[in-house]
Amino acid sequence: MQLLLMGPPGAGKGTQAAELVKKFDIPHISTGDMFRAAVKEGTELGKQAKACMDAGKLVPDEVTIGIVRERLAKDDCKKGFILDGFPRTVEQADALKGILDGLGLQLTRVLNIHVPAEDLIERAIGRRICKKCGATYHVKFNPTKVEGVCDDCGGELYQRKDDNEDTMKNRLAVYEASTKPLIDYYTKAGLYTEIDGRQSIEKVTNDLIGVLFSAQ
Ligand SMILES: [Zn+2]
Repeated sequence: MQLLLMGPPGAGKGTQAAELVKKFDIPHISTGDMFRAAVKEGTELGKQAKACMDAGKLVPDEVTIGIVRERLAKDDCKKGFILDGFPRTVEQADALKGILDGLGLQLTRVLNIHVPAEDLIERAIGRRICKKCGATYHVKFNPTKVEGVCDDCGGELYQRKDDNEDTMKNRLAVYEASTKPLIDYYTKAGLYTEIDGRQSIEKVTNDLIGVLFSAQ
């Protein structure tokens, strides 16, 4: 099962990836983890990526693609994988197709956890975090028993600076503009499925699994 998982910041992609890992026993491969691992292992591509990051430069596509190729060729990917954060562009999507062709594989599905921008903004604006233990709450969807006080440890709650309407609007606009071509690309390829991310965590997981069983 070769999956690509998409979703805007705040749609619960990490939570759902963890559920799919449990269900299908396949690795979750996020771009960040993949880069860190390559740098840590000191592979040739890892060294090149580190040199770029240290210099504050963007890692060139051929390095990124090479790291993805090495990662997907590893044994733990034999049963499948969940890719997250790659590809980001149509060029990278073409490269991914080439990598999978080379491994005799193809993508099973591209799953996008979709949440409308206004819902994501509401989620972000109401988010409150405990200063002491890091527990996350929401003033409307998951309020604490006593306003401003953590249920778990009694710590004081705060609101992250980024969790405001303007920052979220900008971030989502950038995300949507960069994702649109990929959605078109995978829709044309007949691989794209959108899941309603406004539902409960359990319901979203069930929908994802339902799509995957019918795609097999
Ligand atoms: Zn706390």
